[in-house]
Amino acid sequence: MVDSKMSVDKLTSTAAGKNYRRIRISINHEALSHNLSKVREYAPKSQVMAVIKANAYGHGMLPVANTLDTADLFAVAIPAEAYALRENGCTKPVLVLHGFRNAEELQRFSELDLAAVVHQPLQLNLLAQSHLKKPINAWLKVDTGMHRLGITVAEVDEYFGQLRNSSNIAGVFVMSHFANSDEVDNELNNKQLSGFVNVTNDIDVSCSMANSAAIMCLPKSHFEVVRPGIMLYGSSPFLDVSASELGLQPVMQFESSLLDIKTIKAGESIGYGSTYQCQSDTRIGIVSAGYGDGYPRHASNKTQVWINGRTCSLLGRVSMDSLCIDLTDVEAATGDRVVLWGRELSVDEVARKSGTIAYELLCHAGSIAGL
Ligand SMILES: *Cc1c(COP(=O)(O)O)cnc(C)c1O
Repeated sequence: MVDSKMSVDKLTSTAAGKNYRRIRISINHEALSHNLSKVREYAPKSQVMAVIKANAYGHGMLPVANTLDTADLFAVAIPAEAYALRENGCTKPVLVLHGFRNAEELQRFSELDLAAVVHQPLQLNLLAQSHLKKPINAWLKVDTGMHRLGITVAEVDEYFGQLRNSSNIAGVFVMSHFANSDEVDNELNNKQLSGFVNVTNDIDVSCSMANSAAIMCLPKSHFEVVRPGIMLYGSSPFLDVSASELGLQPVMQFESSLLDIKTIKAGESIGYGSTYQCQSDTRIGIVSAGYGDGYPRHASNKTQVWINGRTCSLLGRVSMDSLCIDLTDVEAATGDRVVLWGRELSVDEVARKSGTIAYELLCHAGSIAGL
């Protein structure tokens, strides 16, 4: 998939000019490749289906697909994402996790050689009523306990038989998805896994179950194909194990700069709602980044940023385009670089302290930046 339109600088694709923002988001494609190689270390016997839905978790789907060219397959959520991959020259197997919903989409899957998740009766009807020039691959999705998409365990034989007999279907695969694999000891994990094994044991078929967390903590769930998402982007799915402990490298670098420095007198408060009161005279910095740039507003008064080798706490609420930090005893000058998350400060930490997960922060910041 070599296409000049898709190639980007190895380290920078800044959106600052385009969006009139002072923030800078850069994507480290070497880290992305490194994380893919970690997937191979964790699951050496499995093929890797790199999950690049939601614009590659905010990192930019096309350049990410380009860098992850050695993955065996790609997964996206919706047809439009798969069409974009094909339009930009991607020839790799692509699985659409939501499948097709109507006859037109099904035809287009055939024309573009896209694989579909099959998870509902509507899709069997569409297959029965269509005549595709070229049969497509189907991934039968079994609900083993997540209760989102998927047919029941009891329906597998029926669906599998119908897919196998359909002239519109080339290969059939079976997959399922964990609800709690980020909690290593959660008992639903083994329940889901054994349910999946029971139903697939007697059929000769390639299987896929593991997302990032299961790739790293549930080797029995690897089967023929693993489906890493968040670990490719260098974030840990586990609350109590850091990405660096897992051998992963951060991919998104989210930075801004110091707009102003001042000292606020004891007893005065900072920001909207006056939620932070200075106990003593406090030297503060104003950073050019806020929730309008994708920094979580819920982070107020809890998270930290990195500046000049130090981490500094946020003071008061995050505003739309600025936030305040405590510069007590920190050497800093206007214009200095401020890291909101990235190499110096993990996105997982910012997410945890603002009551969310890195998935959301990455998707959000990346989409605002227009990556
Ligand atoms: C998003 C998704 C994945 C990837 O999950 P991570 O936790 O990001 O590794 C895998 N499989 C399915 C079906 C998904 O929807």
